[in-house]
Amino acid sequence: MKKNVSVVQRLRGIVFLALGVCLTAGCAASGREPVRYAGTAMGTVVSWQIYAAEENGAAEAVSEEICAAVGDLEAALSWRDDSSELAAVNRTAGDPGGAVLSPALKKILERCLDVSEASEGAFDVTIGQVVRLWDIDGWAAGEKSGEYQIPKERQIRELLEDAGYEKLSLSGNRLCLPQGMALDLGAVGKGAALDEILALLEENGQVSGAVVSLGGSVLTYGEKPDGSAWSVGIADPLDPDRMIGALSLDGQWCVSTSGDYERYVEVDGIRYHHLLDPATGYPADSGVRSVTVLAREGVLSDALSTACFVLGEERGLALVGQYDAEALFVDGEGKIVMTDGMARYFH
Ligand code: AMP
Ligand code: MG
Repeated sequence: MKKNVSVVQRLRGIVFLALGVCLTAGCAASGREPVRYAGTAMGTVVSWQIYAAEENGAAEAVSEEICAAVGDLEAALSWRDDSSELAAVNRTAGDPGGAVLSPALKKILERCLDVSEASEGAFDVTIGQVVRLWDIDGWAAGEKSGEYQIPKERQIRELLEDAGYEKLSLSGNRLCLPQGMALDLGAVGKGAALDEILALLEENGQVSGAVVSLGGSVLTYGEKPDGSAWSVGIADPLDPDRMIGALSLDGQWCVSTSGDYERYVEVDGIRYHHLLDPATGYPADSGVRSVTVLAREGVLSDALSTACFVLGEERGLALVGQYDAEALFVDGEGKIVMTDGMARYFH
């Protein structure tokens, strides 16, 4: 029997509103225009605006550095690319000598393991084989439209046996993966890029303000020339072309959203989305439709948004309470629940 299959990959889970605000207010008054960039990278739409205190080419230079850094990180973290560092690490699965990690990958992985422990495994980058079985990246590339078969439960169970963050051994910069395991860093790639971009902005020293959007993850930095807050819109998961509100942010924040509308495949009217519960290997069914997390670091906001989606509202709130982070949950009825800290920024 022919199945009715459709594949959806939204390129924009979260939107930043700084451009509209800027053009109608402060920039015209101050006479300073930001350097703007828009393109695609990491399988999503990326854009940024950078303000420098003086027109001396500093904003243009940092914009070029950001382009290169995002490209390099994408090349390092992609498991689909055989030449990536992550693919090389995955090839060592079962090798007792393990892999030697670059300092950047080690730092990302340490943060991931920390969130795995705190979330009791709801966030787990060792489920790479299960992510591949579902072919989540294939949906994004539009490869399976019309012929997709959902995985068999037995296959999922078998692959889950080789997963589990507690089976990893990281000692110094040496990582040992058990046979059959593969890492997937899709949940934190954009957050890791935001952390690198933040370091570039800080190093540059001449950037007065910037807002960077990488798909569902946004970095705000410094100030706009008119002193107004950065505005980051949050999509309505029930109708993603609309917004449920926006965050008004001063200075440095990382905002990440995980939602079931961002990437999914629909088979015979059932939606299978890209946020898997490592306990079952199936798309998480915790009652939430999207979670937005605010933190000072990109890998953290990105990992926590994925973890909170899997955990649901009650356990997700307890998780973010363990960090310097805020969260906002939207459930299937459109009900919004958020931490007190988030309420100070949301309108
Ligand atoms: P995000 O949209 O940032 O929440 O990341 C989703 C991506 O992370 C998926 O496309 C998978 O590649 C991966 N992923 C899915 N579920 C999990 C999970 N429970 N823990 C870690 N990574 C996951
Ligand atoms: Mg994430």
